[in-house]
Amino acid sequence: MNSARELASDIRESRKSAMDVLEDFLQTIDAKERDVHAFNLVDRETAIEVAGKIDETVASGRDPGPLAGVPVALKDNLCTRNLATTCSSRILEGWEPPYDATVVQRLRAAGAVIIGKTNLDEFAMGSSTEHSAFGPTRNPHDLTRVPGGSSGGSAAAVAAGFAPLALGSDTGGSIRQPAALCGVVGVKPTYGLVSRYGLVAFASSFDQIGPFADDVADAALVLEIIGGHDPLDSTSIPSPVPDLSHGLERGVEGLRVGLVSELLEGIDEDVVAQVHQTADALRAGGATVDLVSVPAVEYGLTAYYVIAPAEASSNLARYDGVRYGLRAEGSEVAAMNSATRRDGFGDEVIARVMLGTFALSAGYYDAYYGKAQKVRTLTRRDFDAVYANHDLLLSPTSPSVAFKFGERSDPMNMYRCDTCTVPSNLVGDPAISVPFGTGESGMPVGVQIMAPQLGEAQMFQAASFIESQAPERGTA
Ligand code: GLN
Repeated sequence: MNSARELASDIRESRKSAMDVLEDFLQTIDAKERDVHAFNLVDRETAIEVAGKIDETVASGRDPGPLAGVPVALKDNLCTRNLATTCSSRILEGWEPPYDATVVQRLRAAGAVIIGKTNLDEFAMGSSTEHSAFGPTRNPHDLTRVPGGSSGGSAAAVAAGFAPLALGSDTGGSIRQPAALCGVVGVKPTYGLVSRYGLVAFASSFDQIGPFADDVADAALVLEIIGGHDPLDSTSIPSPVPDLSHGLERGVEGLRVGLVSELLEGIDEDVVAQVHQTADALRAGGATVDLVSVPAVEYGLTAYYVIAPAEASSNLARYDGVRYGLRAEGSEVAAMNSATRRDGFGDEVIARVMLGTFALSAGYYDAYYGKAQKVRTLTRRDFDAVYANHDLLLSPTSPSVAFKFGERSDPMNMYRCDTCTVPSNLVGDPAISVPFGTGESGMPVGVQIMAPQLGEAQMFQAASFIESQAPERGTA
């Protein structure tokens, strides 16, 4: 498949039309979407209209932008003006946001063609898309397996060739883990680097938007386009996004990489083997790789599964049958509120709201929420100590390759999928998942590179090197 960069330059220089490019992707969707179910909605008509306008812009000699005519799929928790945004939940049925998320605006301004909205675990709570109210997405590499989650639809869309680029959101790993399971690149940027204006909130102290792409350079380009200050998001960092595309080929000579020992425990052997191969490749490229300890990551998962539900219980209070989407019948307002929430939310969402409310309730606050926040501080300190003499950290992205549907129906087993990804969310650091080799049954493996805050440039540089050393990738 052509990279997004190649497609955009072909379109800008009239070697291809945006319309033909779009047609190719729509044909792939027609051929495979029935099996994969990556999308909640394919916005064919608008996409054709926009592609036509891009071609007109090129014909008139004007510059349509760095993503000219490139189809992009959006996770269905990103607000799109006058286009249904469901979060794969029944409670938002029929809701059409009156505005575009900032990232959507920036993509449009760069010439991208929004091709549709992708499936997710309801409100981004999950690691397999099995919690979607509209049925799961299937892994394009093996339809009997999950694509990961919660941004499983976005990862599958890129892996299946439905779009060269997609956006997802990552609260505890929801971009990186599905990227790993589907064999594509996925990035969680530094907290605050990408505006969340128009991202439906799950756990606001963790949520970040980031790209999926087939290669590292495409992901870097997307981050440059969607990143940078936005006055509409008060957590947005008041500086422009750093240059990420230049210097990707610099290699890793002299880089000091730490391999996180705690994140090699309890991980499947086939995955660990690829992480060691990655470490060898980095060493061969002139980096040093040594085993480091970040002790607090052992408590990361526990802390995350207290704080994230606590924040979710507060964020999801707005779905009351009055302001958005669904409304169930009730004899008076409170009865209508609770009937709407009971009918509109799936089991996982209800469980999280209850857990979160409990963790925040008087008498339990210090024991659960307060303690979890302390783990967060400890994790920051542990990472700082390691970064005092390391540039980057290496770990698996997911403890296993893509698993079969129903295999992790016990919630604790599902939550363990996030072991390696939640630490970066707890501290707000950036991390990327890069495909590297295969594991059990030939399924893709992803390795994770973590960096200190705003360390994206070096992170992408190392990721690009790893990609260049990775075994040949199979196509989905
Ligand atoms: N799997 C994690 C959860 O269920 C992370 C989800 C996410 O990053 N949105 O909370």
